[in-house]
Amino acid sequence: MNAEIISVGTELLLGHTINTDASFVARELSAAGINLLYTCTVGDNPERLKDAVETALDRSDAVITTGGLGPTGDDLTKETVAACAGKKLVMDQASMDHIEKYFKGRLLSPTQKKQAMLPEGCTVFPNHVGTAPGCGFRSANGKLVAMLPGPPSELIPMLKDCAVPFLLKDTENAAIVSRIVRVFGLGEGYVAEQIADLCEKTNPTSATYAKDGEMFVRVTARAETSEKAAAQCEPVVEDLKERLGEFCYGVDVESLEEAVVRLLAERHLTVATAESCTGGLVAKRITDIPGSSAVFHMGAVTYANEIKTKLLGVPEDVLKQYGAVSPQVAKLMAQGVREAACSDFGIGITGIAGPDGGTPEKPIGLVYLALSDGKDVWVREMRNTGCTKGRGYVRFLAASNALDMIRRRVLGLGGMEYAAYSREKHAG
Ligand code: ATP
Repeated sequence: MNAEIISVGTELLLGHTINTDASFVARELSAAGINLLYTCTVGDNPERLKDAVETALDRSDAVITTGGLGPTGDDLTKETVAACAGKKLVMDQASMDHIEKYFKGRLLSPTQKKQAMLPEGCTVFPNHVGTAPGCGFRSANGKLVAMLPGPPSELIPMLKDCAVPFLLKDTENAAIVSRIVRVFGLGEGYVAEQIADLCEKTNPTSATYAKDGEMFVRVTARAETSEKAAAQCEPVVEDLKERLGEFCYGVDVESLEEAVVRLLAERHLTVATAESCTGGLVAKRITDIPGSSAVFHMGAVTYANEIKTKLLGVPEDVLKQYGAVSPQVAKLMAQGVREAACSDFGIGITGIAGPDGGTPEKPIGLVYLALSDGKDVWVREMRNTGCTKGRGYVRFLAASNALDMIRRRVLGLGGMEYAAYSREKHAG
């Protein structure tokens, strides 16, 4: 099936809103095995929207629109799309009941009521977050059409729960299951080479994606039932875990921090952080995870040298001799915060995130990360990594490396000193 997305909204054309809906829909379509051939963005203009819809209905098997379903005057998607598809709009009582319930006690305007007008005979996609329902139907020329609201919080569940099943309902093997195998420390290109044979297979499919200094492999299977699709994914996931070994930090986890918090909690271990150039990012990422209070003792952002000395006990002469950005200081920060917090592990991070402040010996992007367990202390050097991508990236990657060190230490994996970018040569 060949599909096309039409994103509606002048704010998208002005650059005020980033079109995250289109990228989300694109990813879900791809996971569902639907080929996306075109995407287009149109302002809130009925003539241009009509042109776009007519073109899409002509050249694609399925058309998915996002936005313009709401109550305001510029929300014209439903009227325009229905007219192009040869459909009359009729009132859907269940949607009207939902809108009335939503606005209970408040005056319901005619434009709000308009949201319950849907193409005759359509499948209604209920909106459990807002008021505008979405819908799916076949156009007069037999094409599938799905209309979704603009706000991502409304679109995402509706797409997954209603629109994708609607688009697939007449397809064989309509049940789809995806698994995500997450990897830190190996690049996407390297992993793609290692799993090239799996990526060539069609059911399940395996595809690599790179994001925020790490990568993941998405395994997707289609079958008559979800149970069968899940069973088809399983051996591929196991194979990937085997091939990616210690670099695979989790399956179906959302993030490295989630994997680390779960691991620490399982083992009843605790951590504390002393961060300089990452400004508390490791602490933030850990405490973003529900349940982190069981594993996180304290986070100190120790930017100034005097504070490194006062709070963490880093001796002044060490700071003077080696400089704040040095393996020696990172080690002492890790040891100092571990002792102060009475935790199992202490993390110390010091580096130069840029864009100013680098020298030939200590360039931007140089970060030292240390982990102390009270007995041993390990230091990882991150050098020149991502400095062209900016301060935010250096800081994020440094925080990821710190999380990776915690994971490696807990699992006794070794490789504590290798930064993400230098891993591939150690992978074999
Ligand atoms: P509403 O009922 O809120 O009016 P709607 O379906 O009419 O929903 P729009 O009016 O087009 O949607 O957009 C509402 C808001 O949703 C926008 O201001 C924007 O914040 C967000 N939004 C719309 N389209 C997109 C998109 N393509 N990507 C990301 N966000 C979007």
